[in-house]
Amino acid sequence: MTLPRGMCCCPVCLKDYVALSNHLQRAHGVHNVEERKILLNLATRRVNVRNEACPVLGCSYHSTRLDKHLRDGHRELTRDEVEVNLDMARRTKSISLLTALRRTNPTVSMSTGLDLEEENEGDQMEVPGEAEEDAPQCPDPSSIHSKVEVKRLSARLQLVERELMNMRSKSQRLAKRLRRSQAMASARETPAATRKEMGIKRMR
Ligand SMILES: [Zn+2]
Ligand SMILES: [Zn+2]
Repeated sequence: MTLPRGMCCCPVCLKDYVALSNHLQRAHGVHNVEERKILLNLATRRVNVRNEACPVLGCSYHSTRLDKHLRDGHRELTRDEVEVNLDMARRTKSISLLTALRRTNPTVSMSTGLDLEEENEGDQMEVPGEAEEDAPQCPDPSSIHSKVEVKRLSARLQLVERELMNMRSKSQRLAKRLRRSQAMASARETPAATRKEMGIKRMR
């Protein structure tokens, strides 16, 4: 998860760059200083997410110490998973900063659209299941702006894939644990002290 020193993951295309500020200007045409700052802060994880809502599915925590809550309140998460969730919160926060910036109608126009992309996704997410029932339609060409749109979507996909990989390894670990505890349960004659030593107490 950690990149070589000085390397940052571009929040727009999710590729790693040393000189991200230059990359943002050259590759994504980010000339708005504020926009660039938000994206750079996101890339370097300098985003204050303490007041953000917990991104863990089914958790309703929304208070003032999200960082602490994720580390101490979600013991089911590995360290990497906590980081993934913090990254999601950082992205959400950055997107709301970008939305706020867009509302000010900046003189130097914004060139990335992380905030717009999330808005569209939100619209789709509000009607789960409905999309499948609708007859498949060809996408309106005007709604597919350009290669940039494709890039953004594939960046988003990469993020989701990364999360999926984390989830998968977590479920593999859980399955392993389960098998171990089943094996131990069947070996009933094992003295309690030994079982304790082998960590059976920690298994759920
Ligand atoms: Zn990029
Ligand atoms: Zn939570």
